[in-house]
Amino acid sequence: MLYDAIVVGAGPAGNLAALRLAEAGHRACVVDWRQNIGDKLCTGIVGRECMARYPVNPGDIYRAANSATLVSPSGKRFKLAKTRPQAYIVNRVSFVSSIAAQAQQAGATYLLGPKVTGIQLSDRGVAIQTEYQASRDVLQGRLLILASGFASPLVKMAGLAGGGHGNAMIGSQVEVETAGVEETEVYLGNAVAPGSFGWLVPLADSRALVGIATRKKLNGHLPEFVSSLQKSGKVRAAVKKPQNWGIPVRPLPKTYAERVLVVGDAAGLAKPTTGGGIYYALLSGEIAVKTAGGAIARGDFSARMLREYEKGWKAVLGKELRIGYLARVLYEVLGDRQIDSLLESVLAKDVQEDFLASEDFSFDWHSVLIKKAVNHRVAGRVIASFGPDSSGLARAVPMSRDEAVQPFVPQP
Ligand SMILES: Cc1cc2nc3c(=O)[nH]c(=O)nc-3n(C[C@H](O)[C@H](O)[C@H](O)COP(=O)(O)OP(=O)(O)OC[C@H]3O[C@@H](n4cnc5c(N)ncnc54)[C@H](O)[C@@H]3O)c2cc1C
Repeated sequence: MLYDAIVVGAGPAGNLAALRLAEAGHRACVVDWRQNIGDKLCTGIVGRECMARYPVNPGDIYRAANSATLVSPSGKRFKLAKTRPQAYIVNRVSFVSSIAAQAQQAGATYLLGPKVTGIQLSDRGVAIQTEYQASRDVLQGRLLILASGFASPLVKMAGLAGGGHGNAMIGSQVEVETAGVEETEVYLGNAVAPGSFGWLVPLADSRALVGIATRKKLNGHLPEFVSSLQKSGKVRAAVKKPQNWGIPVRPLPKTYAERVLVVGDAAGLAKPTTGGGIYYALLSGEIAVKTAGGAIARGDFSARMLREYEKGWKAVLGKELRIGYLARVLYEVLGDRQIDSLLESVLAKDVQEDFLASEDFSFDWHSVLIKKAVNHRVAGRVIASFGPDSSGLARAVPMSRDEAVQPFVPQP
């Protein structure tokens, strides 16, 4: 069988791509070594916009979240609340599997178990080598969509440059039993997660996920975080073993080549601020199929033709990835006292409303809020006070003359 497209990876990106290909009548084949589709380390939080565009079955939603509490390095708690849900904590395995089931119903072929071990690209097509237990096979296709997740070695096999480890966070997460935790809590400060943040996310019953993600070196940070939550009475005990997996914070330099498109985490398309990647993976799968459909129809799989995909995702995600990354770079150099003063300035009761109440507030799109903070009469001064490290962000987010900020000295 010659497939129009072989999709490697049945995560959010690959399944959505397969669904859209099959809906358009193309012969799509998805290969994933994972038998339990979607069972990859993740917290399973998606924003309101993602939910509206890619609905999750009501039975697979653990919770709708219209509030969360941020805990500063010095232990001050800031509750952020909106009247309607901003995000949903979902059963990720069921959600991702349900997209795969729709793709299968629409006609996509799924091969679960085989691992893709080799890629051969030629003028005539794509040959994919797979291995499963003792057997080897070769699949033939016209186009290859790599949806194989974080740091996939297949990207280099397809002749593209990989993302590099400096461009990723390591996420570490454990499932715990909690004592009455009803709301997501986000913990900031270098003791919890250097240059980043930790989370306590309630699922159903009394289960919750505790995790951290950072680009800096982890050295017993997760066990210490869990033990601090135990001391504060929020967590009873860990009920599963901790797991680690990477999250990209920058896109690949190039996400297409002749007969190849790279989507989702494999392409580095996750939010550099929080590491959330489900929505961007879905969007990139969708955008890839727009280009793929045209290529299949014309029989033109040249890099020139497939370049449209990169233009497409850049138009939607490019600004977010660029500004989000600069904000991350700035945040990563802050000491705990600076993080404290940033939170005090942005989340002070009178200022908080400027951000939270505005229509710009979004779980999925952060660049507008970052821009707003840089230009804000109070928060902007605090950010400018972080010195040269804030200049990259300030340059990317030009300030109007009226909004130009004066240096601000944090209170001792
Ligand atoms: C700790 C942690 C928490 C997270 N929490 C959230 C969150 O709450 N919300 C959010 O939006 N994002 C979150 N993310 C990020 C999110 O999980 C990813 O961005 C998202 O899963 C990317 O989807 P994807 O389809 O690109 O790749 P993946 O979901 O990684 O899927 C890739 C698939 O490819 C398969 N594969 C890889 N190589 C091969 C091969 N050689 N042969 C066959 N199959 C192969 C894998 O088995 C896998 O199923 C989190 C990440 C981590 C690490």
